[in-house]
Amino acid sequence: MAGLKLNHIYKVYENGTKAVSDFNMEIKDKEFIVFVGPSGCGKSTTLRMIAGLEEITAGDLFIDDKLVNDLEPKDRKVTMVFQNYALYPHMTVYENMAFALKIRKIPKAEIDERVKEVASILGLTEYLNRKPKALSGGQCQRVALGRAIVRKPKVFLMDEPLSNLDAKLRVTMREEIIRIHEKVGATTIYVTHDQTEAMTMASRIVIMKTGIVQQIGTPKEVYSYPANTFVAQFIGSPSMNLFNGSYDNGKFTFDGTNSITIDIPKEHQEKLKDYIGKQLIVGIRPEDISLDPAMLKKYSHDTISIDSQVVELLGHDLVIYSDVDGQKIIVKTLADYDIKAHQDVKVAICMNKIHYFDPDTTNRIEL
Ligand code: ADP
Repeated sequence: MAGLKLNHIYKVYENGTKAVSDFNMEIKDKEFIVFVGPSGCGKSTTLRMIAGLEEITAGDLFIDDKLVNDLEPKDRKVTMVFQNYALYPHMTVYENMAFALKIRKIPKAEIDERVKEVASILGLTEYLNRKPKALSGGQCQRVALGRAIVRKPKVFLMDEPLSNLDAKLRVTMREEIIRIHEKVGATTIYVTHDQTEAMTMASRIVIMKTGIVQQIGTPKEVYSYPANTFVAQFIGSPSMNLFNGSYDNGKFTFDGTNSITIDIPKEHQEKLKDYIGKQLIVGIRPEDISLDPAMLKKYSHDTISIDSQVVELLGHDLVIYSDVDGQKIIVKTLADYDIKAHQDVKVAICMNKIHYFDPDTTNRIEL
């Protein structure tokens, strides 16, 4: 098992693309780290540099305190699981899992023991004699994971391993990978563009944008204390509402209106004193806007009237899409509220859940 250290890692491709800039992180043994961000933000490049499949332009990469920049992939004790699991079609599940060990000339008895042990962890025992074409997509993905696990790598690297599976299977495999990680306990780095996957699987999340790390933290930290507006909107679904407006006299006035204001709690005003008479961005998650009469009473100076332009019923939840004089607002509430489209709805902003951001830097203003 192993920890990793990425010190000021950069990647500039030959065509000049700056794919990764100044990536710094220490990963502890047994952590489950998820790199997340929109397509092209440098997640795979970082993973491939760790795997040794891509040269590191600058910076130092340590695995278990050993500098590995110039080590061949096979000598790094890392194993990569790709989205295209590409099993050998002419081999059985057993042979697919045993293949890499055979090449390494590991004794037959040990191969047999390892393959059977991993097959049992993955629930593949009864399929060991089958060929891939007689397996479902999820089973194939499990074999691909098994192939990686039998090699007993110090670090697992997974690049969007579930993206070829249908939505339901993805959820099942997500749980399975978490369980496998708990059993096998190897340090894992997992790449995805899906924030739900990141939030549900990670012990810590790394959020990237244009090759630059935006924030590193536990799912709870990045959800509750997003470092900037990008993270605020990337993590959580539906996205956090961000409102531009001006701040004065303890009140926030929404841009585009002169009259729609909310009262800023006294305890926040101290932290916002540099913004008096200036622009400010206020953020509130859709789930922190309430239709509950008790909340409308509690936050009576922080209510807004909206027109429910579009209403989506998602079983347990209800999502209302509207705007506050041109600024989009999304409200997520319980389906118990019988709201139809094109209705006037009064909502309360739960001010204990509010976020503030600097309009120039887009950074979070700490409370
Ligand atoms: P992600 O995994 O987050 O989608 P990538 O790491 O694949 O992002 O890509 C990061 C950036 O590097 C993108 O702008 C991409 O176009 C570029 N890139 C990726 N691979 C290469 C390559 N082999 N040569 C040049 N540019 C590349």
